[in-house]
Amino acid sequence: MKYCSTRGQVQGLSFSDAVMMGLADDGGLLLPEAIPQLSKQELQSMDQLPYPDLAFKIISKFATDIPAAELKEIIDRSYANFDHAQITPVIKQDDLYILELFHGPTFAFKDIALQFLGNLFEYLLTKNSQKMNIIGATSGDTGSAAIYGVRGKKNINIFILHPKGHVSPIQELQMTTVTDENVFNLAVEGTFDDAQSIVKEIFGDLQFKKQFSLGAVNSINWARVLAQVVYYFYAWYQVSQETGAEQIDVSVPTGNFGDIFAGYIAKQMGVPINQLILATNANNILSRCIKSGDYSMAEVHHSLSPSMDIQVASNFERYLYYLLDCNAQSVMQMMASFKQNGRLDFTADQKQRLKNDFSTSSINDEETLATIKSFYLENGYILDPHTAVGVAVGRKESNPQTPLVCLATAHPAKFGDTVKKATGQDPILPEALSKLTTCEKRLTTIPAEKNQVKDYIKENAT
Ligand SMILES: *Cc1c(COP(=O)(O)O)cnc(C)c1O
Repeated sequence: MKYCSTRGQVQGLSFSDAVMMGLADDGGLLLPEAIPQLSKQELQSMDQLPYPDLAFKIISKFATDIPAAELKEIIDRSYANFDHAQITPVIKQDDLYILELFHGPTFAFKDIALQFLGNLFEYLLTKNSQKMNIIGATSGDTGSAAIYGVRGKKNINIFILHPKGHVSPIQELQMTTVTDENVFNLAVEGTFDDAQSIVKEIFGDLQFKKQFSLGAVNSINWARVLAQVVYYFYAWYQVSQETGAEQIDVSVPTGNFGDIFAGYIAKQMGVPINQLILATNANNILSRCIKSGDYSMAEVHHSLSPSMDIQVASNFERYLYYLLDCNAQSVMQMMASFKQNGRLDFTADQKQRLKNDFSTSSINDEETLATIKSFYLENGYILDPHTAVGVAVGRKESNPQTPLVCLATAHPAKFGDTVKKATGQDPILPEALSKLTTCEKRLTTIPAEKNQVKDYIKENAT
């Protein structure tokens, strides 16, 4: 399997090269040259597999340059420290199925991809006698999942900048109590935007980037999307075996479009998904785009589902490539015009295809709280605010004859204040989170100043 860029200037990469490149050198995103299609028999032949074995079957179709035994070992290790035997259990609640994706070490669905990516990086770097220094800025979830993905790994250091005092106490603890020698938490005296622009500037210094082999773990890495394809298969097997249904609807709380794009790939491969439901909060650019072809940037609204507070969804370009019939020239033109005008324009035919590919709605904070509350009162089950957006939109958009699967992207205890506001109850903190308060912390406070961050990296990078 070879990989090419959505913008056409990078082609013929192996899976390993695509993982190491991250963002394509031409500014586009990397995709497999073809999406493998599974026959009905092949689909059925995997329906009893435990999660890691299923993951191996699917991922090995795309990672053809990694020897099977080694790939299997990487995958097994990636899912060995989840706290549920099924890794991503499907739980019937009321009229729908919850696909719990929060059983990894940081209690957010990003663990599913980042545990795999961390092991994959370590494997590829060691094989090629290379080192990598990962740099990222976080407002919460991604930082801790990335840190847990690479803690203690050989040949990798990770520097995560967070705005000092502006991440939730649990998220701060999750990051700063990791005391492995290769993990560097930098509490920046500034806002998240300050932290993010420092990271961008540092990546912009190509000389520095090369000298210190800087790497990123953001959601544009193909390996992250790929790892997420697996649980769409897994959910289909669980629900179809229980209900005998021919198809499922899946509702996905969406920010950067990575998770739902994985669902789109799973559907192309043959998973019988009827409707892919794209759920957004007040940051509804993607919903507007699907409903009326209006893809235009607005201000970022701060909502109760902060991991979805995103305007420009970086993975959308991957879908655009298929919408434009794999014409890299057209993708390039569209992205250039977006950069200039802050909007994309679609033809009538493209608008229709968008509507055929996705259903969508957006939900405001008030509806999010009301959904958490009513779901709790009716089922005794606590949804986190992101999952609640997916449940509310899923119920609106799903076909009543088709079983609805809602992706649960975070454990409710990570958003305790919102849950308490909605239900009057503090969610029960998993032991792994409650014991963090007594753990040793390691962090460095640093001014929001690019050169000081660079000096810090120079001193600590290996
Ligand atoms: C990242 C995240 C999302 C959004 O996923 P995308 O792949 O960016 O669309 C939703 N919920 C939670 C809890 C997240 O951390």
